[in-house]
Amino acid sequence: MTKRIAILGSTGSIGTNALRVIEALGADYKVAALTAHNNVELLAEQVKKFKPKVAAVTNPKKLDAFKKLLGETETEIHSGNEGLEAAASDRDVDIVIAAVVGAAGLEAILAAAKAGKILAIANKEPLVIAGALLTKIAKETGAKILPVDSEHSAVFQAMQAGDAKEVNRIILTASGGPFRGATKEQIKNATIEQTLAHPTWNMGKKITVDSATMMNKALEIIEAKWLFDMPVEKIEVLVHPESIIHSMVEFVDGSVIAQMSGPDMCLPIQYALTFPHRVKGITKHLRLEEIGSLTFEKPDMEVFKALKMGYEVARTGGTAAAVFNAANEAAVKEFLEGKIKFVNIVEIIEYCLNKHKVKTDATLNDLLSADDWARNEVKEWLNRVR
Ligand code: MG
Repeated sequence: MTKRIAILGSTGSIGTNALRVIEALGADYKVAALTAHNNVELLAEQVKKFKPKVAAVTNPKKLDAFKKLLGETETEIHSGNEGLEAAASDRDVDIVIAAVVGAAGLEAILAAAKAGKILAIANKEPLVIAGALLTKIAKETGAKILPVDSEHSAVFQAMQAGDAKEVNRIILTASGGPFRGATKEQIKNATIEQTLAHPTWNMGKKITVDSATMMNKALEIIEAKWLFDMPVEKIEVLVHPESIIHSMVEFVDGSVIAQMSGPDMCLPIQYALTFPHRVKGITKHLRLEEIGSLTFEKPDMEVFKALKMGYEVARTGGTAAAVFNAANEAAVKEFLEGKIKFVNIVEIIEYCLNKHKVKTDATLNDLLSADDWARNEVKEWLNRVR
């Protein structure tokens, strides 16, 4: 049976890789909807090539330019956040790949869950901010949530070796980023260039900064908690600089199942699309003899304080993770614009968390207001130090 796929965020790094994967998978996989925010040039090219039923430009200011680039078409064109929702919940869509950076795609993803779609979640926000809501809706509608984040895909794949009740620990691996082994003093004034020099993965700027602060891993702890319905006590982080083992699951009998492959997002994307099956894909196969050795070390939670905060936020629940995520997003933006120092990113997040009054049993509105609140607090922080 043909699987019809919507990609929310088709011009980003995940989106373009997803299209390569779909193309290689052949006729059983069809692109049904594509959305982008700003890059209408690439979106127009993609629409011409894949001829989806629906296309959406979420930035309404870019709509005219997009239509002009596209010319005559049979694709339905939408815009704004409604466009994202239209793409995610169209009745001719089976699988939604969520790869929209930031909190923007949240409503659309919840709409897709309400519509009972298979959700292949690549960006962290749906689970980090709205994990409680999303998993609740999915339970009610039968929507399946499949991880695309490489660590969670690895855990999900390893989980197939046993029963969820038999899991003793989830071990999330982390590359350690460009500042692995550094002291607080050494990274305090790290430049943008140093921060963006990731040793193993080639990703977008925001996530690369998150990898340098280890905020990425902190967010992944929260993500894992919701995806696998695990208490945080059972989730560990292990630094593994080669990025070959993408994560592991330890079962109660002491067996550890690890998922290995080269650092290529095409594999987790493909697994989410073909699950529960595996097919030949475009990912280069692993030759362990070429790698030689795999190494591991405990993360330094004093230098990478974000990790420690991640555990606390995961335990707290409610609106805490929305603040954690939004403060980070806003702070990283300031850092990339050269307005704050590297060390300020985590300081700002901590400042926001300390100031926030957590609301439990949060609705989507509560979560979005917490997100807004945190972004304003980041501005406040900046005004204060200027
Ligand atoms: Mg990851």
